Amino acid sequence: MTNAFAETPIEYLKGVGPARAELLKSELKIFTFGELLTFFPFRYLDRSKYYRIADITADSSYIQLKAKMVRIQTIGAQRQQRLVATVRDESGEMDLIWFQGIKWVSEMLTAQQEYVVFGKPTLFNGRWNISHPELEILSAEPVPLNEIIRPVYNSTEKLKSKGLDSRGMAKLIKGLILNDKFFLTENLTHGILQTLRLMNRQEAFLNIHFPRSPELLKKAQTRLKFEELFFIQLRLARQRSLRLKKHEGHRFLKVGDYLNQFYHHHLTFELTNAQKRVIKEIRADLGSGNQMNRLLQGDVGSGKTLVALMTMLIALDNNYQSCLMAPTEILANQHFSTITKMLAGLNVTVQLLTGSTKPAVRREILEQLSQGNVQILIGTHALLEEKVQFKHLGFVVIDEQHRFGVAQRAKLWDKNIITPHVLVMTATPIPRTLAMTLYGDLDTSVIDEMPPGRKAIVTRHVYEKDQAGVFNFILTKIREGRQIYIVFPLIQESETLDLKNLIDGYQHIVTAFPPPDFAVGMVHGKMKQQEKDAEMKRFLSNETQILVATTVIEVGVDVPNASVMLIENAERFGLSQLHQLRGRVGRGGDQSYCILMSRYELSAEARKRISTMVRTSDGFEIAETDLQLRGPGDLQGTQQSGILDLRIADIVKDEKILKYARNVASEIILHDPSLSKKENDILAQHLIQMDRNQQNWGLIS
Ligand code: ADP
Ligand code: MG
Repeated sequence: MTNAFAETPIEYLKGVGPARAELLKSELKIFTFGELLTFFPFRYLDRSKYYRIADITADSSYIQLKAKMVRIQTIGAQRQQRLVATVRDESGEMDLIWFQGIKWVSEMLTAQQEYVVFGKPTLFNGRWNISHPELEILSAEPVPLNEIIRPVYNSTEKLKSKGLDSRGMAKLIKGLILNDKFFLTENLTHGILQTLRLMNRQEAFLNIHFPRSPELLKKAQTRLKFEELFFIQLRLARQRSLRLKKHEGHRFLKVGDYLNQFYHHHLTFELTNAQKRVIKEIRADLGSGNQMNRLLQGDVGSGKTLVALMTMLIALDNNYQSCLMAPTEILANQHFSTITKMLAGLNVTVQLLTGSTKPAVRREILEQLSQGNVQILIGTHALLEEKVQFKHLGFVVIDEQHRFGVAQRAKLWDKNIITPHVLVMTATPIPRTLAMTLYGDLDTSVIDEMPPGRKAIVTRHVYEKDQAGVFNFILTKIREGRQIYIVFPLIQESETLDLKNLIDGYQHIVTAFPPPDFAVGMVHGKMKQQEKDAEMKRFLSNETQILVATTVIEVGVDVPNASVMLIENAERFGLSQLHQLRGRVGRGGDQSYCILMSRYELSAEARKRISTMVRTSDGFEIAETDLQLRGPGDLQGTQQSGILDLRIADIVKDEKILKYARNVASEIILHDPSLSKKENDILAQHLIQMDRNQQNWGLIS
């Protein structure tokens, strides 16, 4: 079902010569007619509405004005040169400015001519201006009704230099759509179109670019958003169904001595209801004969590791080995020591394997591992090496998932003929919509309840001017024997600047808490792993009372005696980062505190982030707010996956459509898992087409 029109190389389009073709390819990855058609407008402008210059405010995004050109001047010399054209409407005056293409632009402009001006205003020296606006001579004829909604396309400086600004792009696309051969194959079944009353594909493309009415635009958007989300969901549903069919799983039917001993004699507390529920879910997977592939979400300290440990014991009861992979050496060490402690007296062989394991020890571990004598292996990436061979690996735990690439996960799969059961643990809660899209293939469990007796962390927002008070508070806590984290942001303008920011902060703190009464440590991303580890160890053993750090301490470190987290320039951190940082305290029995220090002037978003932190400690609520504030593109772990490279849909705003798409896709796969029924052929073909276009998809398991 190839579509000759859509696959025509872009060079063949009228108006696209070799130079423009090159630019379209390099700047926008547009190689074919079809790809140009999926270059959707990013917004629309109502051509019947004009702004008045006097009404422009800081909130005005792209605007359209009707104004007369009153003055055209070239200002400045040589490199500083710019072209300034002043326009006026009945309400006031503003400037249009060009820094490039001055010669040809000035030849094009006519004084006293009425123009339609389009662009994004900025304020400079108290005067509004638009740099590099789009201009159109005001036509005497009214805009035809079916052209009132005008598409606005993104462009780049390079494209603009070849005449491909928003209007230039519109012209190209119009050329395509008005072409007699314009034809797009439908890719949704008749059944779906009928039931959901969706616009057909060809109509949708026409109306997304050149809407004939607001209603038709809406229908076109719904159709295309559905299409985009539906095929993602269809693929995930098919993958999941194939996995369940194909990957036979070890059957862990027995609950034996290891688990019983542990549960009845070693566990000193009751499991929370959430933990009990999750263990039930896991046990159902383990007994099903299919391979488990489960994502376990739960806030820091909610008891995920314990659940993983109990699952390992079930594996042991069935004579299988387990491994746990952590993203850093510190975390692997921590897991090793807590797990060894919890299993003391149970006669289970647990070993630790990391990059710094000595060769002789390593050789011994590998030997014992291949003979099946090491029952639980804990480690870092080192576990992925070829030489690490298990006798019968039955269960794999991956902690802090987003630090590992998908490819690495797959590597662990390869270690056995029958794929081991996999539990991926993450403490960064993933909003439901995102989880549906990113991990649609994984089953999900959630621990949404904290163990009892945990004291809620007191979170306060203070301004920099209150620093003296904050330092006093810290002093009291140190005198009580507690330890303190102080975190500085990465500013990211330059690495040297960041480091300077941190070191200035450090010195300031050393001055306020001088030796010999106090010891202040520092860790940052530029340090060698060994130095970092050494510094962390000093803090862990209470040799240093204050640890000054960047977000390198974000993940997993456990120092129960640290009870205050002070975050400097809190306005610069993202919500999920703040949440992770706060999770570093509150791990011991003492009341803990998180102090968010910020400048006085805050953007609305920063204020919202900080107030959310002060209001709630619910990781899911925080993750949802974060997603709403930032959109999915910036969330951790999403960029490299490429999954959220959506062209038109937005998983936050289009949650309803996403749910529809997911339901329809699951329903189809339920009745036709391999999409081999005739009526679904159209869908299967489109998935093949997508595979060809996006080879990356194969990496997502
Ligand atoms: P996570 O891995 O989710 O961060 P852990 O499993 O490390 O959480 O648990 C954090 C702490 O809480 C550990 O010291 C653990 O022993 C303890 N813990 C876990 N579950 C419970 C429970 N049900 N009741 C009391 N304490 C618990
Ligand atoms: Mg943990």
